[in-house]
Amino acid sequence: MPESSYDCIVIGSGPGGYVAAIRAAQLGMKTAVVERADTVGGRCLNEACIPAKAILRVADAYKEVVEAKGFGITVSGVEFDYSGATAHRDKVIKILTGGVGMLFEKNGIEVIKGHGSLTEDGNVKVGGSFDGDELEAGKVILATGSIAKPLLGLQFGGCVLDTAAMWLSAEQPQRLAVVGAGASGTEVASAFGRLGTEVTLIEALDQILPLEDKDVARACAREIAKQNVKIVTGANVESAEDSGDGVRLVLDGEPQDFDLLCIAAGRAADVEGLGLDEAGVKVGERGLIEVDGALRTSKEDVYAIGDIVPGPALAHKASDEGVIAAEDAAGLATHPIDYPFVPRVTFCSPQVASFGLTEEQAKEAGHDVVVGKVPMGAVGAPTVYGDRGGMVKIVGDRAHGEILGAHIVSAKAAELIQELVVARDLEGGFPELARSIHPHPAFAEAVLEAARATDGWLIHG
Ligand SMILES: Cc1cc2nc3c(=O)[nH]c(=O)nc-3n(C[C@H](O)[C@H](O)[C@H](O)COP(=O)(O)OP(=O)(O)OC[C@H]3O[C@@H](n4cnc5c(N)ncnc54)[C@H](O)[C@@H]3O)c2cc1C
Repeated sequence: MPESSYDCIVIGSGPGGYVAAIRAAQLGMKTAVVERADTVGGRCLNEACIPAKAILRVADAYKEVVEAKGFGITVSGVEFDYSGATAHRDKVIKILTGGVGMLFEKNGIEVIKGHGSLTEDGNVKVGGSFDGDELEAGKVILATGSIAKPLLGLQFGGCVLDTAAMWLSAEQPQRLAVVGAGASGTEVASAFGRLGTEVTLIEALDQILPLEDKDVARACAREIAKQNVKIVTGANVESAEDSGDGVRLVLDGEPQDFDLLCIAAGRAADVEGLGLDEAGVKVGERGLIEVDGALRTSKEDVYAIGDIVPGPALAHKASDEGVIAAEDAAGLATHPIDYPFVPRVTFCSPQVASFGLTEEQAKEAGHDVVVGKVPMGAVGAPTVYGDRGGMVKIVGDRAHGEILGAHIVSAKAAELIQELVVARDLEGGFPELARSIHPHPAFAEAVLEAARATDGWLIHG
């Protein structure tokens, strides 16, 4: 007999799970969240997005002080102590995870500590995989996230870290190899390089940020290379050996020694011991749970969201799926997600933000492609700020004025991309954006100019 009963039980309290739980509670469902970690907020808040951004912020601040001379400010005796950075990181994690706990309380959501799994009849067991207390669940939302997978025949531990361990480490390495120059690896390189670590950023493909538009990746690489980071693309790591004191990589025939190796490639859905087989939840390619547009799995009344289902592994995608799953579970009509148009940001310096198609993808898809490209330095605000190295690039469809994709490199790219996302969501194209008045001097004028350039009448350039 189940010991308790809920309308909705969410397993996992990350950005997918906690948002789903809050939305379910808002809609009147008696809701519980099962979380096995000591703190709520998931990997995002405890070991991934948030600690990463906290350390990256320290790197920004440090660089601003060191480079203040360019503004006529002389600062002598600048010193950096990594323990100050970790204190900032830990404080931020504590504030934000505490905030999630408060939101649970405010919304009357019960947090149940333990490992959650599905039973055959779609209820939830809390405890081990084959024992524990059974809770009756009207609806279940699975939101258990993903875990890093080691490469090169290595195990994590010792001098081989995944990105979470890298961001949570208490010490700053002197020589760091980062394998994988996607968003996570490039963030690690940009943070630690600017804080004084000698970084080698290694990528098997021919550009860093391999999923990004070529122009944008090139502009970003130019800036990253100035940050104590040696970029090696088209690289072949032949072997890697952890000696306990350091790691020796054989890279394109050359042995190279590092204090630490951070593997920033390869993640897998965290579904072990979740009882998927027993409950009859179908798993598809790459071990991801199969879902429909409302995040329903093959098992009635069981939903799955976030990193355990297909689509970009991003926190805001997980949260949006949480809203959709909870609304569908409550019997409401909800909105679909257009996955290629989910915005994505790499928080290196400068930031890289994009959504939709790259120029190459738009051409391959047969669009009548028009491109508007503007350097950040074309307008006033980025020049005042000292952010001339980046660019805004809009990929459009000439015939319909549709924004097919947008790609930004700038200190404020994460904020700037949203204007383009909203324009598209509200069915605006680049011709409309080109005639939308922007304040002066603002970074967003670069977006305005890129829209004008796409529409064929760039003013500043
Ligand atoms: C280093 C790094 C940096 C990142 N930075 C960004 C970023 O800047 N922006 C961005 O959008 N995305 C970023 N991501 C991706 C982002 O972290 C994930 O997409 C997001 O955390 C997924 O959310 P989720 O809710 O699916 O799962 P998670 O955040 O992984 O949370 C899952 C939770 O479920 C719990 N759990 C797992 N199994 C069970 C079980 N059986 N029972 C009970 N509890 C369980 C886990 O303990 C965990 O707390 C980053 C990822 C990494 C690794």
